[in-house]
Amino acid sequence: MCRKNVLILSFLFLAIFSRVGLSFGQEKLKIFISVDMEGIAGIVHSDQTSSSGKDYNIARRWMTKEVNAAILGAFEAGATEVVVNDSHGSMRNIIPSELNPKAYLVTGSPKPLAMMQGIDETFDAVIFIGYHARAGTDDGVLDHTYSGSSIHSIKINGLEMGEGEINAAIAGWYKVPVVLVTGDRIVCEQVKRSLGEELEMAAVKEGVGRYAAKSLTPEKAQVLIKEKTRIALEKRKTIKPFILDPPFYFEVNFLRSYMADSAELIPQVEKKGARTVVFTSNNFVEGFKLMRVLISLARR
Ligand SMILES: [Zn+2]
Repeated sequence: MCRKNVLILSFLFLAIFSRVGLSFGQEKLKIFISVDMEGIAGIVHSDQTSSSGKDYNIARRWMTKEVNAAILGAFEAGATEVVVNDSHGSMRNIIPSELNPKAYLVTGSPKPLAMMQGIDETFDAVIFIGYHARAGTDDGVLDHTYSGSSIHSIKINGLEMGEGEINAAIAGWYKVPVVLVTGDRIVCEQVKRSLGEELEMAAVKEGVGRYAAKSLTPEKAQVLIKEKTRIALEKRKTIKPFILDPPFYFEVNFLRSYMADSAELIPQVEKKGARTVVFTSNNFVEGFKLMRVLISLARR
């Protein structure tokens, strides 16, 4: 073999070897992060969570930093792609220019899957940052379920659920496990009770009623979230997706009777008491979308 051929062969061998090595070394790890605001450290009031509130701009910066902490933890655990979905109010709270540029940001609303927009079966794990307890939870900071002005409670297949459980069931529809929830201690425990013991949690504050908390400082919360993200992703294969059995029976209990009157106008929806409507769906995502239509109708 002439010297030139040996060189060409060596080059080809090296090229193939390095490609194979790369694919062995880089297992795909796609992470989806849904970010609400009420469960961010230091936040206890709508002056901080409402875009017209006087403390909103500093609070959205704390929110962005908690997400950055989770993104860092995810890449430390070997993530190859991170998608962040802004999930609070207008869904334009996270400051794009201050978010870790290695992540993608889903921002704005309305979007079909709302707090879970962007999730699909290609993801390996889901993380909830800044979540809050469901409506009617004692000592749950800023507790509510989707809409504080219209929802008393939501049950699916007979189980009362907050945003954490419902969004976990959307992830479960795509067979993706939720591995970490952060927020006040109460929401962490509430979601863990529904999703199972393996779920990791990072409690960044302890509610003292609805509008007060004993909280970690933002800096300390960020350290905790980065660490918990890494731990949760490293044990992700031990955590099962939250999969509900079809058919899915939705029961929406409104705050006022006229809200159920409006919801009942939709043919698939039946009234069950003055403030309560029910419907059934075989497709969880379609059922979730119908539930959101009912909530939108109630807001008038
Ligand atoms: Zn929110």
